[in-house]
Amino acid sequence: MVLSIPREYFKAGRIASNVIDDTSRKVSVGDRILDICNEVEAMTKALGGEPAFPCNVGINSVTAHYTAEIDDESLIKNGDVVKIDFGVHVNGYIIDTAFTLSFNPDYDALVRATEEVLKEAISTIREGVRAGEIGRVVEDGAKKRGFQPISNLSGHLLQQYKIHGGVSIPNVWLASTPLLKANEVYAIEPFLTTLDGAGVVVDSSIRNIYSLISRKKTGDKRLDSLIDEIWRRFKTLPFTARWLIDIIDKNEVKSMLDRLTKMKALHAYSVLVEASQRVVAQFEHTLTPTENGVIVLTQNKQDMGDEVYE
Ligand code: MN
Ligand code: MN
Repeated sequence: MVLSIPREYFKAGRIASNVIDDTSRKVSVGDRILDICNEVEAMTKALGGEPAFPCNVGINSVTAHYTAEIDDESLIKNGDVVKIDFGVHVNGYIIDTAFTLSFNPDYDALVRATEEVLKEAISTIREGVRAGEIGRVVEDGAKKRGFQPISNLSGHLLQQYKIHGGVSIPNVWLASTPLLKANEVYAIEPFLTTLDGAGVVVDSSIRNIYSLISRKKTGDKRLDSLIDEIWRRFKTLPFTARWLIDIIDKNEVKSMLDRLTKMKALHAYSVLVEASQRVVAQFEHTLTPTENGVIVLTQNKQDMGDEVYE
């Protein structure tokens, strides 16, 4: 089998696997969200990668796009269901992965079902499978276990310095979807909730993850030099205020980012919540389809990544 994805993916995948392993063992009730995010990001760097986006911590119905604020005081509480979603890149080649920890026995089955559904979905992937067919496996797997998928969130193609590469992998069956290709890299990420939920996420008013969309001069010297620094550090990848407090006073950084958002130099991502405030679980792996199966880049803690699922 000739694999021609950049070798950086294997390095980033190994780093991510180690971070998953370490974080999933360590996180417990009473931990600060801020410490979890800082540790995931610091470990990524210590192992030779860069965070591809701020570590997301989603508690209960908070489903995606929440990262710790600069002085975030929130803690993991007994009864919480905690999603940790993070990215690792090496030279812009991105690994995107997530897992869920349940500190509430009422949701252990939801969390287990989500992990099983991801495994089932992965086992059906090979070169040429239709994205919508993966959605069907997720949807059927969720229903069979007494849950439902979040229908307006999906997996995605990954490209260099691009988290969403233009192809979506839905979590429900959809017609007229593209075929998955060998030597492309995809993130597969089922989100499941209970049957009494809406099964969709909606935007909340909280936004604390940003990405650069324009480098045009603003007319304000400080904002212009901030744009230059964002480009130098993150290119177009998502970032957060915590990542700029070494160069900007922490009392000022949020207002500067908000001004740049209003000027349309930055995009700000809304935190997504389940529309009926139901608990959501998520698991995510990054993989590349092959002729007979798939190489899961995020399940390679030790070796170089030649483990193939048949
Ligand atoms: Mn993803
Ligand atoms: Mn993710």
